[in-house]
Amino acid sequence: MRTPLVAGNWKMHGSRESSAELLGALVRGLEDGVTAEVLVCPPFVYLADAHRALRGSSIRLGAQSLCAEETGAFTGEISAAMLQDVDCAYVIVGHSERRALYSEDDALVARKFMAAIKQGLVPVLCVGETLEEHDQGITGDVIRRQLSAVLDAAGIDAFAEAVIAYEPVWAIGTGKTASPDQAQSVHAEIRSILRAENARIADLVRILYGGSVKASNAAELFAMPDIDGGLVGGASLDSEQFLSIIRAAQ
Ligand code: PEP
Repeated sequence: MRTPLVAGNWKMHGSRESSAELLGALVRGLEDGVTAEVLVCPPFVYLADAHRALRGSSIRLGAQSLCAEETGAFTGEISAAMLQDVDCAYVIVGHSERRALYSEDDALVARKFMAAIKQGLVPVLCVGETLEEHDQGITGDVIRRQLSAVLDAAGIDAFAEAVIAYEPVWAIGTGKTASPDQAQSVHAEIRSILRAENARIADLVRILYGGSVKASNAAELFAMPDIDGGLVGGASLDSEQFLSIIRAAQ
């Protein structure tokens, strides 16, 4: 049985004050307990504050990216050890915005994934096809290529400590969502790629769906057998929306 995970990717939004308000509302909203695992990924500069705000709560903390290098002269970068130092348990790797806007290719994503694993952080590995790739009917090929790059570099055993997020790029921040059947079919394909390497690990890896998840569509997506929760962007900035999505995953 996989514990559902609902993760909020705040991207480059908010302020110190609004972050504190949002975290306060989430902590209060989950006071009565929660069966799903809940994760928030604020911007780097708010992680230390978030760590303090979440003390005593079951909400987990994660970062939105990390440097593939361990330490050294890498101006502007944040290492896996630094993230662990401020109590991050998770880190998003290979988000489509990083791939498209910051030229992170499959090889770099694989190195970041391994840097996270080496430090004991759980990577949330994002995979997904663009609209063009979707229209060409090559979603399966794209997913296989993105996964294989990490599998080849890190090995299947590393996936025992990882989470995968299927995020069709055409659904991110667009208001368009993959239908539950569409998403389920890609999730099942991801699991079958992993199963070919190791059936036990394939069954335990959580595969999240991301792409315009909202309170109104979360329940039907999370009801699918291979969808183990969500990676939520926009709706994670609104405490009521995010709490409703978390309830849908219970
Ligand atoms: C995301 O950023 O990972 C995401 C899925 O965003 P949104 O929910 O806003 O589509």
